[in-house]
Amino acid sequence: MKKLTVAIDGPAGAGKSTVARLVAERLGYTYIDTGAMYRAVTWEVLRRGIDAADAVKVAAVARAINLQLTTAAGKTLVSVDATDITDDIRTPEVSRLVSEVSKNGGVRDAMVNLQRQMAGFGGVVMDGRDIGTHVLPDADIKIFLTASIAERARRRWCELTANGFAVALQDLQAEIACRDKADCERAIAPLRQAADAVLIDTTDLTIPRAVDAILKICEARTGVL
Ligand code: C5P
Repeated sequence: MKKLTVAIDGPAGAGKSTVARLVAERLGYTYIDTGAMYRAVTWEVLRRGIDAADAVKVAAVARAINLQLTTAAGKTLVSVDATDITDDIRTPEVSRLVSEVSKNGGVRDAMVNLQRQMAGFGGVVMDGRDIGTHVLPDADIKIFLTASIAERARRRWCELTANGFAVALQDLQAEIACRDKADCERAIAPLRQAADAVLIDTTDLTIPRAVDAILKICEARTGVL
């Protein structure tokens, strides 16, 4: 059976990573969280004390970074130079700066090269902002996952508070709106739905239902699962 390439794009908090990971598990595919890659570069920029607006230095960090993504117990583990930074890349500090870092053309070139290598010969579910439009324009399946901003903020708030971060829901909604705007309006590979992507709104959809909807689309494509 042909191994598909599945691209899942959408704004922050739409449920992409949870849904994409489960789809990958069900298909026996590799899950690639490209947001984690941009977050890792941002973490390294912060660690080195580099100004995120310094395009040359930030791009050099992205080109040199020794980044590994692995999966263990249903979780993507991220490390840089063998140091685990899985939790460090989810801090509000990294979230605030990641859109600034990811609009850098040099950063995007470096990450897109890695992502295309990782996608290899298929059998991957990759999520992000520009996967269907730019990274893998020939992906077999393209999904655009979205949800209302209030619901997306509520989900992120639950996630962050469960991990011990004290954040106000209103502040989080403002930060997500700001990140969406930056991601949609940047000059290079902005967030938008690919013309051939299927739109799935998860505002009132449970995770299992969103996963099933995507698996059905994959099934229709391959004939069997
Ligand atoms: O998916 P996540 O919310 O972790 O992504 C963090 C940020 O990384 C996004 O807000 C966006 O700025 C950037 N990103 C991107 N292109 C991707 C994936 C993420 O620019 N393919």
